[in-house]
Amino acid sequence: MSDDSKRLAEFDALDITVLRERKRLFIGLITLASVLVCGLLFLLWYVPYIGLTTIHPLAPWLLGAVVVLAVCGVGWAALGLVLNILVGRSLPGARRLHGLTIKLFLPLMVLLGKALGISKRRVRSSFIKVNNELVLHEAGRYEARDILLLLPHCLQNSRCEMRLTYDINNCKRCGKCPIKALLELSEHYGVNMAIATGGTIARRIVVQTRPKLILAVACERDLASGIQDTYPIPTYGVMNERPHGPCLDTQVSTELVEKALRRFLATPPEPAVSHRPIKAHAQAGI
Ligand code: SF4
Repeated sequence: MSDDSKRLAEFDALDITVLRERKRLFIGLITLASVLVCGLLFLLWYVPYIGLTTIHPLAPWLLGAVVVLAVCGVGWAALGLVLNILVGRSLPGARRLHGLTIKLFLPLMVLLGKALGISKRRVRSSFIKVNNELVLHEAGRYEARDILLLLPHCLQNSRCEMRLTYDINNCKRCGKCPIKALLELSEHYGVNMAIATGGTIARRIVVQTRPKLILAVACERDLASGIQDTYPIPTYGVMNERPHGPCLDTQVSTELVEKALRRFLATPPEPAVSHRPIKAHAQAGI
């Protein structure tokens, strides 16, 4: 096995190890959320059942048919997602419902997690890991110009006065923050790279660059909302590290970023730079 293949195999192995515990939490919460949604849909039909007969005798049955269809859709989407997570295969048509699952179920799962004493951070982290696995299963390989490396503003050194939001090339590459190494990576592989200071700017960058795959670095909260916002564009998330607390002088393993880039590039050149070692917790987001 070549060095490059070994590095990719190591990347996949790390991802799979961290995923195992996240999957259980995600599957438990999504099953609970599906049951809850189906229960609410049933109530939506049952409560006005008697009142509807006064409009037309068939009205309750028409509403009932709509509710049954919605329940089947929710069940099919959730089952397809769980199967995809467990065995890497989906049900026919279930992938089309992933958007519904991603947009509707995550907020519900956060609420359910809260009711069960599970932190938002754990639920979001689990969602991101499962999303990453789905992207690894479903996304192909892309030309460099079709990949966008999207970074959070907090990676920039807080004392740096360069304005990078509109032009990342304003960076003087002093090496006091990870932006220098990430710029070198983006140039080596020829992918687009941008810094977003918030969700609105991130959306604008995505609209302007029209990527086919986004490799996003951020915290759990921003990654989870970003994955929802950018759907159906596949977004692979790499968690940042926060040695100084949230949103201040954050770090990221450039090795993880490079391995993720190589995983999705159609024809990656030789690896680019030397890196800090991968920390398991960086990928786990804990
Ligand atoms: S590498 Fe230096 S110049 Fe570039 S963003 Fe970081 S601190 Fe600023």
